[in-house]
Amino acid sequence: MKIPYLTLVQPVSNKTYNIMPLKKIIVRKKTKYQDVVIADLDEYGISLILDGYIQSTESDEYIYHEVLVHPAMVTHPKPEKVLVIGGGEGATVREVLKHNTVKHVVMVDIDGELIELAKKYLECMHKGAFYDPRLKLVIADGKEYVETTNEKFDVVILDLTDPYSSKLSLELYKEKFYRKVRDILADDNGIIVTQAGSSFFFENVYRKVLEAVKSAFPLIREYNVWIPSFSYACNFILASLKLDPLNLTVEQVERILKERNVNTKFYSARTHIAILNTPIYRNPLIQT
Ligand code: SAM
Repeated sequence: MKIPYLTLVQPVSNKTYNIMPLKKIIVRKKTKYQDVVIADLDEYGISLILDGYIQSTESDEYIYHEVLVHPAMVTHPKPEKVLVIGGGEGATVREVLKHNTVKHVVMVDIDGELIELAKKYLECMHKGAFYDPRLKLVIADGKEYVETTNEKFDVVILDLTDPYSSKLSLELYKEKFYRKVRDILADDNGIIVTQAGSSFFFENVYRKVLEAVKSAFPLIREYNVWIPSFSYACNFILASLKLDPLNLTVEQVERILKERNVNTKFYSARTHIAILNTPIYRNPLIQT
């Protein structure tokens, strides 16, 4: 097999790597917090890579960001105030702002230099979300923000680097943090969702994150969706104080999406039911 001259070697696990030809590196910068690469990949288009890990690609980011955002948003009866922690590309905020109930979104990301690069080079992902008047962008550590804010939120979306790829977000996958997030929910309709990497390739890490969320919330729903550029089914953990996304019928989700004027490409009312009923990928070879 001829390995293309310009290639990104992308870790899928600690043992398996993807060889991903790339057309060109658009920008590379070592920020105060992480090694940021924005490149044009042959197969996946414009892509954001942080510390060697693909975060999002032009070809399939819509899958990830739609299934991260909409199950929690449609389960809340009237999400007006939303907190996004991480989500540097701006695509998570893009999806949140699609709901016409939303009046105020706070996006907290630790890396201001990354945000400036995303604004300039990742228009294909943020699609102008950074300039929406409903958005308040805060450059800070998400843990510190949650510990000090006096704002309350209907939905909190945690779109952080994987719990095994960089130390930057490790504390935001722990029990103490989830308890603090619970305390800034506006009322008992409150819902949180976090991306949680791969339960198949990092079963032990995933299990710890799941236990940490369970320690802070009475209702938990796990789901996972295949993301082609990740080469694994990405896990998501939704948690709430009482509302269950599985209680919604196809008709109810269809009505909510229509009333809120939310248009999507991958997520739909049927997808909502399907992904919440899909088994979670486990790896029997990983000793837990
Ligand atoms: N979509 C990606 C994925 O699937 O893994 C994750 C989205 S995004 C690129 C990850 C974001 O988390 C980055 O913008 C990074 O700056 C941010 N981040 C990491 N640690 C953080 C922290 N402690 N507080 C706030 N943002 C953090």
